[in-house]
Amino acid sequence: MATATVERLRAIPLEVGSRHWMVENVDEGSNYSVDAVKGECSCPDWQFRCRHRREDCKHLLEVRTVIERQRHYREKKPTVTARAIEEATGVKTLPVIPELSQDELKAIFA
Ligand SMILES: [Zn+2]
Repeated sequence: MATATVERLRAIPLEVGSRHWMVENVDEGSNYSVDAVKGECSCPDWQFRCRHRREDCKHLLEVRTVIERQRHYREKKPTVTARAIEEATGVKTLPVIPELSQDELKAIFA
């Protein structure tokens, strides 16, 4: 009986802005680098097959999925700031919001 193989891939962003990624195949112990902007991967499948067909390899697909998930999360994230809470409730809140960018933080503390 044939069993379906599910490969576990882990996409790790190598910088802020998430252009360059390292995608690890947890089961094989292999690592490939992905350029999300150019749509390129260092794996043999992409080098020898996908690039000529203009297709994504599984590593590129994994990175695209992760980026899409992050974007979805960011859009769904409530835009309530510490100041808005304070104005609405009169309660001084502690602005411990680690997910915010420098620009967002500046806007809050301006
Ligand atoms: Zn690949």
